[in-house]
Amino acid sequence: MKKNNNKEFTVITFGFLFLFLILLLYFIYFMIFQSEEFINNPYNARISAMSDSVKRGDILSADGTVLATTETDEEGNEKRVYPYDNMYAHAVGFNTNGKIGVELDGNFQMLRSHASVLIRLINDFQDHKNPGDRVRTTLDASLQERAYRAMEGYNGAIIAMEPSTGKILAMISKPDFDPNTVASEWDAISTDETSSVLLNRTTQGLYPPGSTFKILTALEYLNEGGEDADPFACDGSFTSDGFEIHCYKNKAHGEETFKDAFANSCNVVFARTGLSLNLASFQNLSEQMMFNQALPGELSNTKSSQFSLPLDASDALIMQTSIGQGDTLVTPLHMALIASAISHEGVMPEPYMMDSVENNEGKIVKQYQPKEYGNILSTVQADHMKEYMRYVVTNGTAEALQSDRYTAYGKTGTAEYKADKKDTHAWFVGFAESDDKEIAMAIVLEGAGSGSGVAVPVAKAMLEEYFD
Ligand SMILES: [Zn+2]
Repeated sequence: MKKNNNKEFTVITFGFLFLFLILLLYFIYFMIFQSEEFINNPYNARISAMSDSVKRGDILSADGTVLATTETDEEGNEKRVYPYDNMYAHAVGFNTNGKIGVELDGNFQMLRSHASVLIRLINDFQDHKNPGDRVRTTLDASLQERAYRAMEGYNGAIIAMEPSTGKILAMISKPDFDPNTVASEWDAISTDETSSVLLNRTTQGLYPPGSTFKILTALEYLNEGGEDADPFACDGSFTSDGFEIHCYKNKAHGEETFKDAFANSCNVVFARTGLSLNLASFQNLSEQMMFNQALPGELSNTKSSQFSLPLDASDALIMQTSIGQGDTLVTPLHMALIASAISHEGVMPEPYMMDSVENNEGKIVKQYQPKEYGNILSTVQADHMKEYMRYVVTNGTAEALQSDRYTAYGKTGTAEYKADKKDTHAWFVGFAESDDKEIAMAIVLEGAGSGSGVAVPVAKAMLEEYFD
């Protein structure tokens, strides 16, 4: 009897030990692999527990300009303050009524404190909060300000990045809001369906690409053995199977090479070229260039661009798709990434906006490293397109971007988005480089007119500032 009891006791003891070990292993696994993701979930109640002992850290631009800070009044009430009001609304985001932007992506980091042991001891002893870590972003404060001013009076999106690293330098989405007053104006902001104020148009806005899509059509044509020097003739319009397409303002471009047609943004040549393409191979190229799939990187809330050209597509759909109309939709972020890849031998970077995390005294706690997603084009393809995009600046619709201080490359677009074709989005997608700096960008101004007339001047303002 006694022996039996001992045996049961041993089994129970080992049973508990086993359960305890499993718990311990799970706990270690959770700490190492899961906790950051779990804690960073905006719906997690643990967040509020962390903010009870840590004063939320600041958000800084790359040069240390304070973009968000937490102020405490005499009664100990905290208030999140955004010194630049609307200027960084979508990039930096807000921290009430949910979170977006860096306030979301850096939430966990800003609620941790790596202050010195002494400071933490004193604070803990006095029951004071510890200073949270700061997030230093990749944002270029002077570029953001210049771009924001250049965009005054327009709705749309501007995104600029360093093409070799994917560091986001400027991010503007309009209409915008003042993050200082999000809580009090929440009902108006969140229910505004006509202008979707909360939508970050740089990462979530899906736009018809217009002629900026001719980058893909040209790449496919050249892939299939099309020649730069093929002579074409444009008399301003072209009809196939009863569907008619026009060049901008019915302009007849006359005799031109394929490269001229790209620089002139000639719809007639590109619609004709489109009808000759292998549609399966065109679809493959688009997917290789990240259409219909999630973009890489850690940015929250990015949407996928859409491209679909079925094998039995009508002539009308093929012609429209070849000039960036039809069913194709793109995000400005995606177009800036394509420009980045073209500038760097086909290698696309992963976009990111958090450069480092530092403690309250500026000591770096965590440094984020640039990552390459990989080749979306071969070096030969990228360099060929680079030459084409340079030609748009030297001989085409972006001539205003010629400068002694930098070499610019690009493609303009004027995208129809209404059935009556009266209003058009103005686009510019491109990049520029000097001996020591480089930048890629996508600009879309909603209903603003032509890419050449409206978006190029905004690009110019940004390049002048950046290469100053
Ligand atoms: Zn033409």
